[in-house]
Amino acid sequence: MTEPLPLAPHLLEPAATFSAPADGDTAPATLATWMAAHGAPAYRAGQVRKWLFERKAGSFEDMTDLPKQLRQELAADWRVWTMTIAKHSTAADGTEKLLLQTADNERIECVLLRDGTRRTICISSQVGCAMGCVFCASGLDGVIRNLTSGEIVEQMLHLARLLPTEERLSHIVVMGMGEPLANLNNLLPALDEAASPTGLGISHRRITISTVGLPPAMERLSALDARYQLAVSLHAPNDELRNKLVPVNKSIGLRTILNAADQYFQVSGRRLTYEYVLLGELNDRTEHARELADLLRGRLALLNVIPYNPVPGLPYKSPSRKSQERFLQILEQAGVNVQVRERKGDEINAACGQLRRLNVDSSPAVVQLTTG
Ligand code: SAH
Repeated sequence: MTEPLPLAPHLLEPAATFSAPADGDTAPATLATWMAAHGAPAYRAGQVRKWLFERKAGSFEDMTDLPKQLRQELAADWRVWTMTIAKHSTAADGTEKLLLQTADNERIECVLLRDGTRRTICISSQVGCAMGCVFCASGLDGVIRNLTSGEIVEQMLHLARLLPTEERLSHIVVMGMGEPLANLNNLLPALDEAASPTGLGISHRRITISTVGLPPAMERLSALDARYQLAVSLHAPNDELRNKLVPVNKSIGLRTILNAADQYFQVSGRRLTYEYVLLGELNDRTEHARELADLLRGRLALLNVIPYNPVPGLPYKSPSRKSQERFLQILEQAGVNVQVRERKGDEINAACGQLRRLNVDSSPAVVQLTTG
């Protein structure tokens, strides 16, 4: 039997598209060194980058200001895309969701949200999730692997390509599948590409990383790059309840998480967001709202209350309108800066991890599902 050919390097791996020439023989090939080896001027690498990040090219073929032969040589040596679109759904409110199939046949999800002039994307950082939050679809089967930096960038570009030519992505939230702080090594180079003026050009303050609250990784992030917005998922105002909803809390504890969050704030100077998924008759009572207000009092923070989006097969439910209103009212009266995150794309299962589970057995196909 013949060995399968090794896969061509992924052009969207940040190390490949950085225009700085590689140092010495052992450094990985970059597009710039490849250009030199193929007798092409260095600026061609910049042109390719511009086609990918600004002009939303789908292939080398699209890069019409490059000589045809160079395009063919590029196509022979590099892969732009490593993932295929297994499913593409569009909701009535304009939310679009992609189910992407990786080269090793795993599936991940990412979403494009339209809100006024905002074009926000929600991207995944891992296949599955190890955190085990009891109400969340992403972690039901544990974590399979980290996404590579290239796969994270690829989600951004697949979603950008859903927009008309003149529209650009404006915000990124890392709130899809996975725990981003458990994959910082691959996430940060990908976000650098999002923030780079020669990448997507989205400023750091418009990029939010959402974490279950892993203090050592929060400290690491504040040391490496505190320009990003940090969102911390609380979901309970005390350890007893949080241990039940977010099992990793048992070895961490709210106090340690809040200290790490305060420290991030000190370094970044950016107001933190706390997320609180409101689960009917579980964490939505009057006493929970009061306790939460006590916890957040004195902190410059925004509390994002997210009404639970039910996951088929799980016993948790959305809060009643009455309990949601009461919950918000108590927090507002206590002076907490609170907002409700509007649900978008419900009918396309836009809550993280849901689409992947619904499609585990179906074969890949591009489906345009327009509802409403
Ligand atoms: N691991 C990160 C990112 C997870 S997704 C974190 O824990 O923050 C972003 C947010 O969506 C988290 O707060 C998560 O708890 C919440 N979430 C997960 N499933 C949900 C559902 N079915 N309905 C509403 N919010 C959900």
